[in-house]
Amino acid sequence: MSHLHIDWTACDGRGLCAELLPELLAEDDWGYPVARHGKTQPTVPRHLEDVARRAVDRCPALALRLVNDPS
Ligand code: SF4
Repeated sequence: MSHLHIDWTACDGRGLCAELLPELLAEDDWGYPVARHGKTQPTVPRHLEDVARRAVDRCPALALRLVNDPS
């Protein structure tokens, strides 16, 4: 399992990640991503890991990281 780490100091709030990962992220009123399920750093289920990786690669501010959790 892995989780998405959002660097709030780098994020510029354009919401691209929320568009790519609507299952995990929504946008707040200012366009910043917020986890849909209450966690600050959302858990990424295996079936969404490829899409999460794509979101990380496409984040214009390099504010996203996919972090592997110890099993
Ligand atoms: S894609 Fe990156 S910069 Fe844009 S909202 Fe998501 S984390 Fe922030």
